[in-house]
Amino acid sequence: MSSLEHIGKVIKNLRPTDTGRALSDEPEVEYTCRICRDAHFVHPLKEDGKPDYSSVVPCQCVREQMERERTQSLLRYCELPAGTAYMTFEEFKTSPQLQEAYDLAVQLADEVGEIRWLTLTAGADRGKTHLAVAICRRWLQRGKPARYAFVPLLLEELRTGFQEEGDRSYEARFDRFLNVPLLVLDDLGAEYRTPWVQEKLDTIIDYRLMNGLPLVVTTNTPMDELPFRIASRLRRSPGSRVVFIDAPEFRKRKRSKGL
Ligand SMILES: [Zn+2]
Repeated sequence: MSSLEHIGKVIKNLRPTDTGRALSDEPEVEYTCRICRDAHFVHPLKEDGKPDYSSVVPCQCVREQMERERTQSLLRYCELPAGTAYMTFEEFKTSPQLQEAYDLAVQLADEVGEIRWLTLTAGADRGKTHLAVAICRRWLQRGKPARYAFVPLLLEELRTGFQEEGDRSYEARFDRFLNVPLLVLDDLGAEYRTPWVQEKLDTIIDYRLMNGLPLVVTTNTPMDELPFRIASRLRRSPGSRVVFIDAPEFRKRKRSKGL
């Protein structure tokens, strides 16, 4: 049983004397939370249904606050671009040409089915970034860390780490790209290709492949113009799918609908 289920059980099974009502020999006290009497924790129930006084779990009154703070810190860590709050699955206007990409994006975000790597290829402004950001947002909602990276800036970010230490050092930054549970590489192929850049991207992609870690890639570059090693991994890794989005540009679609 998870600790949250425990709490649910604790709360359901509380007796009236446990709900914050002052006992007759205690002074009248107004508690903000009548469940934990503002202690912010409760005792979980043991298998036999009795409270386990040897341990504590957060009370319902602090759980919501903790969840909000966790979501905020996951969002900061993800580093989604500014102005992308509307990029969710709910706001995505799908169409027959986009349906396959949309369905696979949702499956990957929810970790349903086989899909682990998703590459979206198309010209500019076809909705790829919207889907990639929506995957991040859904993943974060599920309480798991994700990292979004705009590839040309990712490599700049790594370079700035050479002058920094600790959590902002090159090693720490690179380690996050390797190990974060979900990595989104937006606009792969737009980076300035040098041997150093190529080696970093190869290492990130190889490492995530070897460790079975989810990856989402968007690119405006046709697959056969990407570096061979990367294109072949994106195509052939277990659970990988490459989808070519053959849809009109977002702006044109909006115009044709009179928006
Ligand atoms: Zn409480």
